[in-house]
Amino acid sequence: MQDMLRMERFPELWFEDGNVVFQTETAEFRVYRGILAARSSVFRNMLSIPHPRSSFTQAIHDEQPIRLPDSAQEIRSLFSAIFDSSFFERPPVKARLSVVLAIARMGHKYDIAYLLERALEHLAISYPRTLDNWDKRDYTRSIIHEVKLGVTNNLCVLNTALQISATTILPAAFYACARRDLKDVLDNRGWCELGETHKRQFLLGYVKQTSACKAFHRFLRWPEDEDCQEPSKCERKSRVWEASNEDWFDHDPLEIWDNWDKMAVDLCGVCVLGCKEQYLIARQEFWDSIPELFGFSGWGASEKEMDQTMADSM
Ligand SMILES: [Zn+2]
Repeated sequence: MQDMLRMERFPELWFEDGNVVFQTETAEFRVYRGILAARSSVFRNMLSIPHPRSSFTQAIHDEQPIRLPDSAQEIRSLFSAIFDSSFFERPPVKARLSVVLAIARMGHKYDIAYLLERALEHLAISYPRTLDNWDKRDYTRSIIHEVKLGVTNNLCVLNTALQISATTILPAAFYACARRDLKDVLDNRGWCELGETHKRQFLLGYVKQTSACKAFHRFLRWPEDEDCQEPSKCERKSRVWEASNEDWFDHDPLEIWDNWDKMAVDLCGVCVLGCKEQYLIARQEFWDSIPELFGFSGWGASEKEMDQTMADSM
């Protein structure tokens, strides 16, 4: 009955002289075996003949489609990236989030290192390992969000990053999800896709991140600088500032605080500078603590660094 269903075909992935047909649940693709085998060890093995007990082999002999368990969107993105060199380029060329994630998953699954690396480069701009890059990401990001809801996008990234063990992306992806209201996270469909272990990892981190937010406003405390021009006034006003900002952060200590001009009306210049210094230190300390909040030992090593470590140890 399956064959009776009309399979979707995409003109750009249905080559007249293609020599292998793949089928997902809803679509089929006619592409080139040699190119796939050259790009991917998994496809190479899948397409290699003979292998008497392989259903793939049977399918090839019969010129029947080879079934793939992935979604049509995933395979369409993957094959487009392989057969059209302009479809998925490195940053700063823009790419849609759904495409980046599909290629990250498929590149990982089918062992296509250059595509996986490219997808990780896009993700690393939005989910970086340094605070400096985190602050710049709104201007530098190469990913186009098709869905406007931040919590949905962040959970999609988190799910994919977990699936492919993208250690360099994971701490910032967990943090980005935990910046949101907990109810919005739990009500999102992406939450259901997380396994029990990762749900627990997220919730433990969420609680720690919330505690860190409560502690963060301490940068407003009087810096007690000996050059302070009006110690009694500055100390008193600092207390008011600290108290009035206790609820300022909900879940995100890295939210930019920009009340320095207002503060300069109450405190002397030396104390404002002192608070700014405390603020920068507190932000950096919080950033440095993110991997630990979510149970990681650090920000993860990128593929290139891993290669370097391997090379050094040999
Ligand atoms: Zn002062």
